[in-house]
Amino acid sequence: MRINELEFKTARNLAHALDLLGRAGQGAKILAGGTDLVLNLKKKRVNTNTLISLHRLTGLDYVKEEAGVIRIGAMAKHEDLAKDRRLREKTDILCQAVGLIGSWQIRNAGTIGGNICNASPAGDSLPPLLVLDAELVIAGPDGDTLMPVNSFFKGPGQTGLRPDQILKEIRIPVPPENSAGCYMKLRRRKAVDISIAGVAFQAGTDSSGQVLESVGIALGGVAPTPVRVPAAEAMLTGLSIEDSLGKIEDCADACADTARPIDDIRASAGYKRTIVNVFARRCARHVLTTLKEN
Ligand SMILES: Cc1cc2nc3c(=O)[nH]c(=O)nc-3n(C[C@H](O)[C@H](O)[C@H](O)COP(=O)(O)OP(=O)(O)OC[C@H]3O[C@@H](n4cnc5c(N)ncnc54)[C@H](O)[C@@H]3O)c2cc1C
Repeated sequence: MRINELEFKTARNLAHALDLLGRAGQGAKILAGGTDLVLNLKKKRVNTNTLISLHRLTGLDYVKEEAGVIRIGAMAKHEDLAKDRRLREKTDILCQAVGLIGSWQIRNAGTIGGNICNASPAGDSLPPLLVLDAELVIAGPDGDTLMPVNSFFKGPGQTGLRPDQILKEIRIPVPPENSAGCYMKLRRRKAVDISIAGVAFQAGTDSSGQVLESVGIALGGVAPTPVRVPAAEAMLTGLSIEDSLGKIEDCADACADTARPIDDIRASAGYKRTIVNVFARRCARHVLTTLKEN
């Protein structure tokens, strides 16, 4: 499997990358860690005449917190995010998810920006970012724009990014003090593979610590894009933790009803729906029990 001949350009900084992208025209592609793109070029699933590599860019792999918002540079690598102390404290669900991506080799090369822009319905960082209400900072020739992650995904491999734009940063509002999250995914046993189905569950209480103020539930791998499940979220929001524990079965059923999986080489649609139900139950129980014990 050989990659077709193409021009390879290395960006010195983000402004240079945008300039190269603008000059190269429609067909150019951004290269981050290359774990998806290089494979897709080899398999001829993607075709381009120009690659613009971000690998020499410094300063786009940060994690910082400012004014109640966590800011993650698009070039941050999964392995670094999985181990980041601040993220583990505040948005552990994201650390859990990126820590489950591929093998350590993939996690040391692959970036969060690449995971988002690749827009695989099964991308592991996506359901956690949905439940954390993340926003994306998109750089382009006219400056930066903000887009909620919820409206970024348009279909498998399809995003709201224009050909002359680059994902620069992910912004996550710091969740309330008493919050917890859980991400579970199913993948083939003993395989370094993307998920068959994944469930993200994030919840936080009000200041009394007793009532669920916010609940976010999202599914991966069971629809053309990752999806939130507002019907299931509404069943638990506003309830006491004790009452919400009694609603877990209904909530898991609502998740399975929302899933629109298809039969594929990895699993049947019916099996994926069952997995969503089981994982939604397990994630909910884990999060609610954690909140109760805090
Ligand atoms: C063996 C193997 C196992 C894997 N396992 C998993 C898994 O368990 N879970 C999972 O979610 N994924 C998995 N993946 C997929 C992949 O590793 C991840 O999606 C990774 O995060 C991609 O990041 P990257 O930096 O390598 O992106 P690249 O391959 O460099 O780019 C991916 C796409 O995003 C675009 N892009 C990248 N960065 C930007 C940017 N800043 N702005 C605009 N466009 C951009 C590129 O043009 C390209 O279209 C696996 C891949 C392999 C090969």
